[in-house]
Amino acid sequence: MGFRPYVHGLASRFGLTGFVLNRTGEVVIEAEGPVASLEAFVAEIGRHPPPLARIDEVRCEARAVVGDRSFRIEPSEAGAEGDVVLPPDVATCDDCLRELFDPADRRYRYPFLNCTHCGPRLTIIRGAPYDRERTVMAGFALCAACRAEYDDPADRRFHAQPIACPACGPRLSLLDARGEAAPGDPIAVAAAWLARGDVLAVKGLGGYHLACDATNEAAVAGLRARKHRDAKPFALMVGSVAEAAGWCEMADDERAALESAARPIVLLRWLRERGAGARAAIAPSVAPGDTATLGLMLAYTPLHHLLLRDLRSRAGGWGGALVMTSGNGADEPIAFEDRDALERLRGIADGFLTHDRAIETRCDDSVVRFAAGPVLLRRSRGYAPLPLRLPVQVSMPTLAVGGDLKGAFAVASAARAVVSHHLGDLAHYAAYRAFERAIAHYERVYGVTPERIVHDLHPDYASTRYAVDRARGGRLELLAVQHHHAHMASCMAEHGLTGRALGVCFDGAGLGVDGTLWGGEFLLGDYAAVSRVAHLRPVRMPGGDAASREPWRMAVSHLVAAGLDPGLSPVATRVGANAVGAARAMIERGFNAPFTSSIGRLFDAVASLAGVCDRMSFEGQAAMRLESLAAACRDGGYEFAFSPEDGSIDAGPLIRAVAEDAVRGVGVDIIARRFHTAVVDMVAAACRRVRERTGVDVVVLSGGVFSNAILAREAAARLRDEGFRAYRHAALPPNDGGLALGQMAIAAVTPREGTVVVPCA
Ligand code: ZN
Ligand code: ZN
Ligand code: FE
Repeated sequence: MGFRPYVHGLASRFGLTGFVLNRTGEVVIEAEGPVASLEAFVAEIGRHPPPLARIDEVRCEARAVVGDRSFRIEPSEAGAEGDVVLPPDVATCDDCLRELFDPADRRYRYPFLNCTHCGPRLTIIRGAPYDRERTVMAGFALCAACRAEYDDPADRRFHAQPIACPACGPRLSLLDARGEAAPGDPIAVAAAWLARGDVLAVKGLGGYHLACDATNEAAVAGLRARKHRDAKPFALMVGSVAEAAGWCEMADDERAALESAARPIVLLRWLRERGAGARAAIAPSVAPGDTATLGLMLAYTPLHHLLLRDLRSRAGGWGGALVMTSGNGADEPIAFEDRDALERLRGIADGFLTHDRAIETRCDDSVVRFAAGPVLLRRSRGYAPLPLRLPVQVSMPTLAVGGDLKGAFAVASAARAVVSHHLGDLAHYAAYRAFERAIAHYERVYGVTPERIVHDLHPDYASTRYAVDRARGGRLELLAVQHHHAHMASCMAEHGLTGRALGVCFDGAGLGVDGTLWGGEFLLGDYAAVSRVAHLRPVRMPGGDAASREPWRMAVSHLVAAGLDPGLSPVATRVGANAVGAARAMIERGFNAPFTSSIGRLFDAVASLAGVCDRMSFEGQAAMRLESLAAACRDGGYEFAFSPEDGSIDAGPLIRAVAEDAVRGVGVDIIARRFHTAVVDMVAAACRRVRERTGVDVVVLSGGVFSNAILAREAAARLRDEGFRAYRHAALPPNDGGLALGQMAIAAVTPREGTVVVPCA
């Protein structure tokens, strides 16, 4: 990332001659000069690398003096196999912002300005090494002025591959609802449309957003209706941290993430009453219900900055906020190709702010929250791809295809693994196509031709079918890995752990080796094998998949398992005696009612019992509401019962207590809090039992349930208080977005032996 110009500048400072060049994944420097200067030069590279660079290793060797007269940047070496670094996209830097708003600058209000230190990367790169001719900018010939900057080692745009200006670069256009070009300055007119309450499709770095004025309730509610989106909160974009503070509370780590070059969406505590500086409240339809948080990001492209600046000046100078939600209909993948966007977003958008710089790789916004450390909910734009050093080398080039609902894969050769950007729900054809395309792209760019594909044990995951289809030719080896073993291994690999560990793997569902759905697992072991030392006692899911969308079904199931009559519960009053009776019959006959040990489903049951949520309109809604409620209060917990014989953990006592509290009219916030405390207590108790028996004190927390900030923070803190070495994910999401790395680590220790399933009992 801007490394060659940096080295050039440094060499000039120390009076050295020679050259620097990119060799796929490495920078090669040959320098001549006095020994002291050479040593100082090398030391300086390690001490003060350029802001966005990450130096993994510096190797030095002596060479014969060749008598170079100058220091130059040589063309990249192509074709060499190895560690290509496909850089993430970078938010517009301060220097570029100054130019953007400087009327004297030749790039004044030019929405595609960038420099060596900022701009699009992953989303525009077609091949390796990273040079303009292998990006979507190849078709834009540089004008003389841009060419001079590109070639001048002293210029801050020296070798900036996406360099552009109004004379030679991409152009913006504004189309109306029918796709006809609108007259006038596209940004000024777009801002006027937004100000009057229109919904605009805005082409961003990795796809289209749907944007509207976040303080205009009619506009936001209209967008929600047109998108067919019931309750899932919309993300917001503002121009600066100062403006964000008008609506949200921010701690230092949250502020730093907002302002980081990755510019993720950060979940922040929402000040319902607008704070200082904000002239209008955020429209309630941005996050319906009692959501305690807002997902907020700062502008990250020149286009965003221009739009927000124009909106601000229209509104008399106070900070505006835009809804910036992914450009798609309900649950579809984000649109990123112009024609497709126009087609799919017609009827949702009143206009299209678009341009002629193509998007090579679709990439969603990343989402992060903080709970005594980062919790990545979606790792994508700005973070991806993620190169990592594996704690164990893979013995052959390997592809790990990850999960299903939160698609992300990894490619690896030797010790270097690269985890892809987020690909969404692979059940959608468009997402699946993007998944296939991205795999081909990463394999090409990183020079990995897999000899083995690792996949989840679940035969119906789209990723599993991809693996099986691709291996059909016979030359590729397949490796099936149990879902929760992969979760655990992912957290271990991220922290470089190689010994035995106890994995606390809590999620919605993953296929277990016994054919039931797991999700409340304590796995003891390492990458090679684990044993299931404890787990939540399985209950039935009446209605199958419907039970993961309708928490009342899990309430009925847990009531039955706890020996209570669901017909007498308030759940029956709300959803009807017939529905409850039918669910109960499915449970008793075992018809369309698979077993699950999932903690995610236990959250659903408790949410329904507390009267908080009987039906969900998006994944995780019930658990999110419980977390929101619990966040506001403090209380002791309910209890689980441990069965010493088979290691099962019975939620019966807890369910009976929740049902009783709900009937007695105990506040839902108190029930929610007691439930969270109970889960933390249960984790600690189960870990103590395992430590007593085995001496293992390394615990990794993984699985989507650890996206819950209360659990992530309190479970880790409690375990550390009790003397455990407890690890949480930091660079990867705890949810299925992190599976691929775990699959890869498990593959690394599994010898080549044809098609195998890694042991897990
Ligand atoms: Zn810049
Ligand atoms: Zn130009
Ligand atoms: Fe999972």
